[in-house]
Amino acid sequence: MNSDNEFLTIIRPYARVFTAILTTLVLFCAGVMIVLSYAISADTEERELKNQRASDYVSSLYREAETASRSLDPLAGQLCTEKTLRRLRHIVAVNPHIRSINVYSRNSTGCSSLEGSLPLRPISYSESRVPFYTTMKQEDGYIFYMVYFSSPSYLTGVAINGFFVRDALRYISPDAAFYPLQDFMELSPQGYVWENTHYPFVLVSSDSINIQKLILKSRAVIFFILAVSLLVGWLTYISTGLINTPRFVLRYYLHKKSFYPVYQPVISTRDNKVAGVEILMRCVSKTGHGTPPALFIPLAEQSGMIKDLTSQLLKKVRDDFTYFSDRGLYLAVNITSDIMECPHAFNELLKFTEHARKNNLEVLAEITERQSFSLTVQLSEKLALLREAGVRIAIDDFGTGYSNLSSITQLDPDYLKIDKDFTGYSMAGGVREALLESVLHISATTAIPVIAEGIETPAQLNYMRDRGVWMFQGYLFSPPSDARRISEYICQFPHTV
Ligand code: C2E
Ligand code: MG
Ligand code: MG
Repeated sequence: MNSDNEFLTIIRPYARVFTAILTTLVLFCAGVMIVLSYAISADTEERELKNQRASDYVSSLYREAETASRSLDPLAGQLCTEKTLRRLRHIVAVNPHIRSINVYSRNSTGCSSLEGSLPLRPISYSESRVPFYTTMKQEDGYIFYMVYFSSPSYLTGVAINGFFVRDALRYISPDAAFYPLQDFMELSPQGYVWENTHYPFVLVSSDSINIQKLILKSRAVIFFILAVSLLVGWLTYISTGLINTPRFVLRYYLHKKSFYPVYQPVISTRDNKVAGVEILMRCVSKTGHGTPPALFIPLAEQSGMIKDLTSQLLKKVRDDFTYFSDRGLYLAVNITSDIMECPHAFNELLKFTEHARKNNLEVLAEITERQSFSLTVQLSEKLALLREAGVRIAIDDFGTGYSNLSSITQLDPDYLKIDKDFTGYSMAGGVREALLESVLHISATTAIPVIAEGIETPAQLNYMRDRGVWMFQGYLFSPPSDARRISEYICQFPHTV
């Protein structure tokens, strides 16, 4: 990637891919989580409902047993007569879920609807104390639950057909189990527990929520979420590509305060001293070297952001004032017509000038000829204000722009800066040298001093000096550098020449 693209590509292709993938993943995962949590809560609700139904069913069996037991009250204390047996069998016949019923008097023998008279039987502690004490029995392959109901004068044992309990469990799941409370306490089986509040039994089923099943159930929604996530990811990739506009790039660097100044001295051979320094803008680059302005100044000028860049630059220049103050120097600021036209930017320039003056620094406004400008009433008023504030004016890149001669009459400059390309035409012969000579001739006839930029060799220096130029800027003296280095250069001048 060349440095141009490097500078302009804030969001790198891999970062775009990464952002797109991340967006897709985050969206997909969030969507699936929401769907699953919704499915889990619906599943839990459904399970509660099933347990409630099963529990209600088993409760109804207990209630049947309880009602049957209570209806035996008039038989209490009676012997196991034909009449008693008939009564017991009648109760069993009218209660469809009851297999048999036994009744024991406190101090006599018992009576069973199945077997008739029962021998005297000791009543266990649990049977007499725990209401609805339940035990499971198995006879000839049939399961039944004996529910003992104790009253002060007798004890009944009602056998509930195990088939109906199993039938109730079918509401829940194939692995659901019924436990009389005392068995549950003893065995502590693992799982999802549903304890009945009225009768002493507990229903237990597997407690693991089957995620696989839930995913399978919600697969249509999950596919939809996947499609939407992919679409948003793709849009993210496209939009992050579109964001890489010059405006965005410059905003990004502005936000990161990446623009900073370097300074290049301007030498006056007439006074044999450094007359001033030109403020040149750089942008922090990843390589550590400043990005040259050719990469961003044209963009900033086109997008109208040059004023923002300049104002960030001037703020940083203020921090460097101490390096240059009280040395009889001027600070040359490159300005464009945008800055003159924008009231805020213009006021900042005036404030900068005021601050510079307090540090005994003059300000030279280098107005470039790259952008065409016409001297409107407002522009001439602004120029007058600048002059009032003590700012001197130079036409930058003189000879390269739109209307050299008219710009001289319009701006009435204090200096003409000859562009480094023109300086290079010295001794070139032919049309080029003739062009340079004509620019120098304009300077001579208008008596506006010239600052020759881009002096790289002693031969160029001498050529210009021979033609009456006495202000120079170029690598022959010093390349642009930070304030500390330029300050040292100024201290050592003229010994370094
Ligand atoms: P410019 O105002 O004409 O600045 C002089 C340019 O010539 C600078 O380039 C400087 O580094 C370069 N230069 C100086 N001596 C030599 C030399 O001996 N040889 C060669 N080859 N080059 C030399 P730079 O810093 O790259 O700036 C380029 C242009 O960007 C500037 O031309 C100016 O028009 C613009 N610029 C720089 N800073 C700012 C700024 O803060 N605001 C605005 N509006 N424009 C700026
Ligand atoms: Mg300049
Ligand atoms: Mg120039």
